[in-house]
Amino acid sequence: MIEVEELTKRYGDKLAVDHVSFHVRPGHVTGFLGPNGAGKSTTMRMMLDLDTPTAGVVRIDGKHYRDLPEPLKYMGALLDAKAMHGGRSAYNNLLCLAQSNEIPRARVDEVLDVVGLTPVARKKSKGFSLGMGQRLGIASALLGDPKILMFDEPVNGLDPEGIHWIRNLMKNLAAQGRTVFVSSHLMSEMALTADHLIVIGQGRLLADTSMADFIAENSRSFVRVRSPQHEQLKDVLHRAGVTAVEVGDGSFEIEGVGVAKQIGELAAASGLTLHELSPQQASLEEAFMRMTAGAVEYHAHNPDEPGLPAAAAPPTRWGAQWGGSGDGKG
Ligand code: ADP
Repeated sequence: MIEVEELTKRYGDKLAVDHVSFHVRPGHVTGFLGPNGAGKSTTMRMMLDLDTPTAGVVRIDGKHYRDLPEPLKYMGALLDAKAMHGGRSAYNNLLCLAQSNEIPRARVDEVLDVVGLTPVARKKSKGFSLGMGQRLGIASALLGDPKILMFDEPVNGLDPEGIHWIRNLMKNLAAQGRTVFVSSHLMSEMALTADHLIVIGQGRLLADTSMADFIAENSRSFVRVRSPQHEQLKDVLHRAGVTAVEVGDGSFEIEGVGVAKQIGELAAASGLTLHELSPQQASLEEAFMRMTAGAVEYHAHNPDEPGLPAAAAPPTRWGAQWGGSGDGKG
């Protein structure tokens, strides 16, 4: 279990993480979702004690990270896939990490096998593709067989087969009762992987919900109807008491999926030609964009709003700058 309480990080006048509280529970894949610059990486760095909070605390099974007896055996993390020593082979990178953390040598072979790098284990990691680098980073996270795993944008650079593999890996790790915390800026990715969601925007917590509830609340179903006899259709719908929203392309949107039959029958009874009558489902990506865009606009348009950080700027980049050198993994 990871407990984040009122976690806050300020860089100069920039509030990167703003009084964020949430819990990450074992047995689930918890998605950490937010647009670029939302504060995900900063939060993860503070969880691993790689950055000091301005305020608030993170507890890992009740303890601060730095007080964990053998951190690598407690919590494994993939942060920056480039954090490995490029001059060393994949095997030696992992062996160094294993030896400095009293992890048996045999475990190195095991994790290389899990991530599919056994055939290139003796090759220098600087020649690795982004995807191979990600796999090596994942191997290092798994090395201590930890109960808690944290992955920052793990599908970056992976090919479709690799993406499928990491999704299954995360689900399996959660099914074994482990705590799996994974960040992404893509709702579509989270929808396929996570069963719980923490959403942040502009450093603030926007949602802490089960994936099922998020889908139920945000996947709007509606019917799109379009007729060359636009005004007559509008009239017919109005007289039948149907709430229809006119959209830019000359069509109407009507909430619900079951209404298509009713609309079709209404149109036929009035002798109207329809060019379209189609059930639609709003995408979760749209719901996520709406949720986080709201936060961005709020900050950008109301800089003097009480209780909000005046200097918060809209996110402009994907924050992959880990500042640190490399060895912060263990
Ligand atoms: P995300 O991981 O969600 O993309 P980050 O945590 O990387 O977001 O960044 C959150 C905000 O904090 C961004 O506006 C970023 O520019 C800022 N930030 C991150 N790290 C630093 C730093 N070391 N110094 C100054 N600002 C930073």
